[in-house]
Amino acid sequence: MPLDILLLGPQGSGKGTQAKRISAEYGIPHIATGDMLRAAVAEGSEVGREVASILESGGLVRDDLIVELIRERLGRGDTDPGFILDGFPRTTGQAEALDAMLSEIGRSLTIVFELQVDDAVAVERLTKRAREQSRADDTPEAIGRRLELYHRETEPLVEYYRIRGNVIGIHGERPEGEVFAEIQEALEALPREETAA
Ligand code: ADP
Repeated sequence: MPLDILLLGPQGSGKGTQAKRISAEYGIPHIATGDMLRAAVAEGSEVGREVASILESGGLVRDDLIVELIRERLGRGDTDPGFILDGFPRTTGQAEALDAMLSEIGRSLTIVFELQVDDAVAVERLTKRAREQSRADDTPEAIGRRLELYHRETEPLVEYYRIRGNVIGIHGERPEGEVFAEIQEALEALPREETAA
């Protein structure tokens, strides 16, 4: 069985950091829609030109465009043993589209992690990152908008997946090694055939 993992959590909760560690440890690709979109903007592709100003303002790109991006990405062979989704789905529409895509290929999410951090901690981490990197959407206005959209559009997905029974909440305001150890513990506790991919 493939190991299909979803990471939920607000901006600054450490999804990217944890996704990279899981990817290295379990040999499955880290799929981050934000990275894919930023690459498209950097390339100046048609998609990139369409989304550049949306990214900068901290708004959400339209579902159909993102869903197509993911459909194409999941169609590549490197996802056969599994994948880690980071930044997708972000809306109920995207979650439904993902369910449909996965069921077409006889798969479903193995496990969903929710990295929990308070907004104050999230803002503090993003503000620090803004000083170190220069992401167009790390301005105070765009940070506020992204967190607001997270709570309004994405947080309801925790309940969406809870009903399906595979959400694990993780306290994210701790050192990254501790957070990763807890994620690993949950992955090791999965029925054997799920991790033997
Ligand atoms: P963050 O989680 O810190 O906001 P991401 O790198 O995940 O950063 O996303 C950056 C931006 O890319 C988002 O603010 C949004 O404009 C766009 N984006 C990424 N993933 C999605 C998605 N699934 N649906 C809509 N827009 C998205």
